[in-house]
Formats: sequence, structure tokens, C-alpha cells
Amino acid sequence: MSLSELQALERGSMIASYARSPVEFVRGAGSRLWDAEGEEYLDFLCGISVTSLGHCHPRVVEAVREQVGRLMHVSNLFYTEPAMRLAQRLSAASLGGKVFFCNSGAEANEAAIKLVRKARRGGDIVVLTGAFHGRTYGALSATPQEAKQAPFAPLVPGFRAVAPDPSALAGAVDRNTAAVMLEPIQGETGVHVLSEQLLQAARAACDEHGAALVFDEIQTGMGRTGTLWAYEQAGVRPDAITTAKALGGGLPIGALVTGERLADVLQPGDHGSTFAGGPVIAAAALTALELTDDPALLANVLERGQTLRDGLERLPHVVSVRGRGLMLACELDVAAPAVVARALHEQRLVINATGPTTLRLLPALNVGGAEVDEALRRLGAALED
Ligand code: PLP
Repeated sequence: MSLSELQALERGSMIASYARSPVEFVRGAGSRLWDAEGEEYLDFLCGISVTSLGHCHPRVVEAVREQVGRLMHVSNLFYTEPAMRLAQRLSAASLGGKVFFCNSGAEANEAAIKLVRKARRGGDIVVLTGAFHGRTYGALSATPQEAKQAPFAPLVPGFRAVAPDPSALAGAVDRNTAAVMLEPIQGETGVHVLSEQLLQAARAACDEHGAALVFDEIQTGMGRTGTLWAYEQAGVRPDAITTAKALGGGLPIGALVTGERLADVLQPGDHGSTFAGGPVIAAAALTALELTDDPALLANVLERGQTLRDGLERLPHVVSVRGRGLMLACELDVAAPAVVARALHEQRLVINATGPTTLRLLPALNVGGAEVDEALRRLGAALED
């Protein structure tokens, strides 16, 4: 089927909620993608930080193959080993409490919202301006962006947005606060790194008033910033984290992970999902987590991240570079969407724009030095045109 036939099918049959680039990808391996014409691309977006081990990592593929032919689904009315092993591994590699599985990032945040509300028997949830926590109603209500929220009012009540500023945050938390929820690096709105002072102020305010501190690590987690979780670099330990995106090694899964204090708040009947933690996705995620929680891989993130950042700073039209590890954004003095389109169609480099002048790069965590150099060459050419 040709691209124009696919586009006609989309126009006729799909709700128009996505603005797709006119490329059909048919195959992926490592940091490379191939389109239907057989053209090869360098992928520095990873399906928005999902295929962080590269496309079709052989060990993830093998884990899926092995499980998919044996047992795909039985529901959470019964036990399956991959989910229990994944929960144990995920908890041990983070906050040491307990895990709730779901199917996406937004759902992980929904679980977190229910958890903190139940823990405090109600209460407000303080979020930050510039945040993005997802598209479902609770997660959307935690996402203080007029354009995303306004068409869908009324939203879930009890969310308060404050500026990402330590004193504003400290002033917003009181005994009616159930939680402060934030992304250590605001990804979707342009890779804005929150300061250590802000994260520490959030921790102190939550401690003072008995509120929970929840970090949305859906984009920053699973090694993206050079540690398994971004909170490790901030010197602040949250009470719960949410993770998704790269957790499944390319397949859909989300999780809420608590520390000890919140581990037993949710009880039978409080929350659930038919597909959550199914054996195939749990087998994939367990393998992805084992591969990611590896000092050599995390060292690669820091080393390649530094090379990429240094190279980006030298490119034409790049005003500044921000981010951590392999979660980077460039501020340009030209329009970013046009650069993204030129990079894709003329240079065969996949990146995206998070705003009118902001490019975002999220390469695979195991990207090689030669691939980083090649991406810089291709992006440089797209910027020069
Ligand atoms: N939270 C953060 C920080 C995200 O970056 C995203 C997605 O971009 C989400 C939540 C929502 O995740 P999903 O699209 O899997 O629902």
C-alpha cells in the first residue's frame, strides 16, 4: 500500500488526533529505521523515549517470543511469574515499596493520583506550570496547559498549578495538600530541568505538611538522564514515582512505584486494569529493566550525552542546549518544525520539535559514538539549508 493510500485510509477512518509526518516506517534495528521505500534513517527520537534500547533489541524480542507462544493473558485474577518478578526488580531498583502496573504513562499518573488522594482522604494536588502528565482526565487535570485542558472542561477538581519556583511551591503546600506531583525534567514542554533547590523545597514542604511527593519519571526514568531515575541526581527521594515509555523495551506498560510509606494504601478493589502486567509485556519489561540497570549503559548515556551536547552547541542557529544525559533540547533562532521536516526528509534524521523554536533529541541509550557524529552532521546540514 502506498503512502497516499495510507493517508486516504487515515482521512476516512481515523479520528484526526495526530499530525503525522508523511513517512511510513516498516522496520527498525538499533538506532536505524527503514521506510517503505527502503531508505535508512537515524532515529534520535526513539518513539518519544520508548525504544531506548534501540529498535527490536534482540534480548527483548527473544523474551517476547518465548512468552508469547506460551501464555499471553489470563487477567489479574490469577498469578503469572513475569509480573511478580518485574515488580520485585522494579521496586528493588527504585523506592523499595510496592508496584501497580498499568498500560501507559497517563494511567500510571492516574494510579498515583488515586493513591495520594486515598492516603490523605482527599486533598489538593499541587502541580507545576509547564508540566505534562498525560491526556486522561486525572492526568490532564494535572497538566496546566490551557490549549490541552480548555476543550475538555470540566476537569477533575483539586489540582493547583504553581510556578516552578521554590518559594512559590513552599507557599502552595499546606495541610490540605495530598501531594506535589512534578517531572524532574519537564519533557513535553521543552526539556526544562527543574533545579535541585526546587526539588528540595518540594521535599521539605511535603515533609512539613504530611503530603506525598510524586515524581513523574515517565520520560526521565529508565536511564534517560544517565542514572536509572532522574531523582538519583537531585539528592531528593520522592514517596512515589511513575514510569512508562521505555519500561517495556518498545511495548506498552506503565507502573506506579511507591516507597515504604505508601506501599499499602491501595487495597483489593481500589484500582485495576484488565491488561496490566500481562505476562508478555512483563517479560519484555523485565528484560528491558535488566538491560537498562547496567552501569556500562548508564555511563554510555553520560558520555554520548556530553558529546552530543558539545556538538549541538557548535551547530549553526543553535542558541542554547539544555537537558541531562540523552534527554536534550536545542533552542534555535529559526523555526524548529521546518528544521525537523528537513532533517527527516532530506537528511533522514528523526527528531522532533517541542515548540516553535525548540528541537528535542532522545536517542537510544546504547547509541554509538559514530552515530552521534553522524546525527550531528545530518542536523548541521538541515540547519545550514
Ligand atoms: N508524563 C510524562 C512526563 C510524559 O512525557 C508523558 C508522555 O509524553 C506522559 C506522562 C503520558 O504518557 P502516555 O502518553 O504513555 O500516556
